[in-house]
Amino acid sequence: MIDSRDDIRLLRDSVRRFVDQHMPRELARRWDKENVFPRDVHNALGKMGVMGLTIPAEYGGQGVDIPATMAVIEELARRSTAVACPYIMAACYAGMNLVESGSESQKRALLPKVAKGELLFAYGLSEPNVGGDLAMVETGARREGNRILLSGTKRWCTGAHIADYVFCLARTGPKEDRYKNLTIFLVPPKSKGVTIRPLDHLGIRGVETNDAIFDDVELGEDAILGGPDKWNQGWKQLAGRALEVEKLELSACALGLAEAACADAFEYAETRVQFGKPIGAHQAIRHAIADAKTKTLAMRLMLYHAAQLVQDRKPSALESSMTKLFCCEGASEVTLACQRVMGAYGLSDLMDMERYVRDAISLPIVGGSSNMQKNNIANRLKLAE
Ligand SMILES: Cc1cc2nc3c(=O)[nH]c(=O)nc-3n(C[C@H](O)[C@H](O)[C@H](O)COP(=O)(O)OP(=O)(O)OC[C@H]3O[C@@H](n4cnc5c(N)ncnc54)[C@H](O)[C@@H]3O)c2cc1C
Repeated sequence: MIDSRDDIRLLRDSVRRFVDQHMPRELARRWDKENVFPRDVHNALGKMGVMGLTIPAEYGGQGVDIPATMAVIEELARRSTAVACPYIMAACYAGMNLVESGSESQKRALLPKVAKGELLFAYGLSEPNVGGDLAMVETGARREGNRILLSGTKRWCTGAHIADYVFCLARTGPKEDRYKNLTIFLVPPKSKGVTIRPLDHLGIRGVETNDAIFDDVELGEDAILGGPDKWNQGWKQLAGRALEVEKLELSACALGLAEAACADAFEYAETRVQFGKPIGAHQAIRHAIADAKTKTLAMRLMLYHAAQLVQDRKPSALESSMTKLFCCEGASEVTLACQRVMGAYGLSDLMDMERYVRDAISLPIVGGSSNMQKNNIANRLKLAE
């Protein structure tokens, strides 16, 4: 089990110290309310070296360690997804994808900067008409001489306004070849022809979500993830190990939120007195907290089990979908139950609980909905359709 690894225990301790020092509760509330990205905190986190936990030492990283990466996300998400999500944009969206699918020159040029916390990538997969069915993307790219021209709209492109590159899935051939004619491009959002427009939403604020609109954006062949010969190979790149890690990143956020909710509800139950005793002495509250803690432990066991499978390059597609499903649904259930423990204060923006709930209920939708995970699980189990 993960907690038996001394190095991860030490890592957790230093991330907790970082959280105490740089991420006080008042600031976490403000980042959410004002929907602002705390870049100074992200930069300070970069100096700790944790962005390099998905990157081999030869490219300036700490060596690929998926369980350790998950531990960092979990600890950050306990306090604020406004710092956990940009960490994911660096270590995972950039680090994992470049390590798994980048060309040698992309790795040499970009990974050392990712490891230092100097680069952020946004995910440009979803579109106004495309959610779970990603192979149907309408954003398209065509070659004209030695130029590539990209046009279309990406929706819910979290962090596109702060990113150095949008990792953009585009159609590069006829639609009939559903999974074949897709290519992934690395698009700098400051390029001519790119417009970024913010979208407002309920949870996971602090790192804004956007429409990223591409109007004949001119790219070179070096913008193709993996290099020019990966034209039309995007689906294979997308469906690899980085996608499994994406499910686990969101599960780690879910775990952090559930733990934070349990801790706040527990403290409240011990200090709030009604009918002459702490509410934690009333059986209904005791049971609610017992259930929440039990679910949270199960989430932890699933997450680190799946993370170790991915780390060991063992088959993990089934387990990572199960983990995404269980942890993200679990975080919604746990935070809602903990919110009730805190009565009216659970709804107040003077406390953190309402923020945990808003963040947690977003997770079963983001990054492949719970229904999509159930489809994946049934397919992997080879259940006849
Ligand atoms: C806060 C936030 C941040 C996000 N960040 C990003 C990002 O950075 N990059 C990015 O690319 N996307 C991002 N997304 C988009 C997110 O990944 C999508 O919302 C998600 O993939 C689901 O797509 P959809 O919402 O369009 O739902 P749809 O795919 O339209 O589905 C709607 C409903 O139908 C169900 N459904 C659809 N198909 C099936 C099926 N075959 N079987 C059973 N049920 C089905 C779904 O489960 C869901 O309940 C973000 C979304 C949010 C809310």
